[in-house]
Amino acid sequence: MDLKNKTLAELKAIVASLGSKEYIAKYIFSFLHQHNINDISLMTTLSKELRQKLTDDGFFISQLKITEKLSDPDGTVKYLFETYDGQNIESVLLDENGRKTICLSTQIGCRLGCRFCATGYLKFARNLTAGEIADQAIKISASIGCKINNIVFMGMGEPLDNYENTIKTVRILADPAGKNIGIRKQTISTVGLPDGIKKLADEEIYPRLAVSLHAPDDDLRKQIVPAAAKYPIGRLLNAMKLYQKKTDRRITIEYCMMEDINDNPDLALRLVQVLRGLYVSVNLIEYNPHPGCNFKPSPQDRIKTFKDILMQAGIETIIRYRRGRSIKAACGQLGADRIPNKSNS
Ligand code: SF4
Repeated sequence: MDLKNKTLAELKAIVASLGSKEYIAKYIFSFLHQHNINDISLMTTLSKELRQKLTDDGFFISQLKITEKLSDPDGTVKYLFETYDGQNIESVLLDENGRKTICLSTQIGCRLGCRFCATGYLKFARNLTAGEIADQAIKISASIGCKINNIVFMGMGEPLDNYENTIKTVRILADPAGKNIGIRKQTISTVGLPDGIKKLADEEIYPRLAVSLHAPDDDLRKQIVPAAAKYPIGRLLNAMKLYQKKTDRRITIEYCMMEDINDNPDLALRLVQVLRGLYVSVNLIEYNPHPGCNFKPSPQDRIKTFKDILMQAGIETIIRYRRGRSIKAACGQLGADRIPNKSNS
């Protein structure tokens, strides 16, 4: 019954069932997503009668509370939110030459336990609703007072492990009556759940896809991403090929570089083999340390060598420099302040 958790089409059905014209739903959607209004009684464009009916029928508007806002000198801002049930999530605002990108969380904690990622050390609590995922963008956008250009589902949690709510959020955020962030400006970043990628290929909307590979073979990948034991790389590549066939879009490969773990030049050569037949670009991300995890970032010269090998093979490769590390907002650091005292060594 949370109005923020509804697509525009669902809101239209609700207002029609209450005896109002469907176009009224657009006002409600715009109050929620463009104007950050969180109280039905404040939606004064609606008739008093409709507002009363919505309230009497149990409709309400959920709302995240910003509990902290941390800024890094590089311009990255981390937002800490509290949910209605007292749980905490984090989202990140990145500013690249004025273009604003928000990294959204989709779950409270994560079930997948990737060993380089602080969120993986947190206990999984629950999935976020589409309303809660969208609200991160609404609140951040209201806090900075300007348009958001891009969305990446790359915060806490695995988006394809909360499939329905994630894809619903893509639809909600893309709607021109709301945030109007186009499907092509939204990226789902997954650790590589083949069934989820195949399901995505069956949708009628195609957000961008980023896949965190981190290793070119199953043995090494399993040490970094435990889920790889269940989802071998062959299945993952087939799912990626299917998505690419449907969308005709380039897929981004994320590769977190950890010293003496996955940064050997031989692995770059194997990665070239593995990616053959796919149209991809590779992001090499220097590992970002956090308490409880003993991996070390790869030295810059090794990252550079890795990049050169991929580039020589014709694969566009970018080194992603750390952003927001001082506030633990960089890749793999979300939730780092709340992990139990535990080490991967
Ligand atoms: Fe979960 Fe993503 Fe972290 Fe892996 S990298 S533990 S999938 S949040």
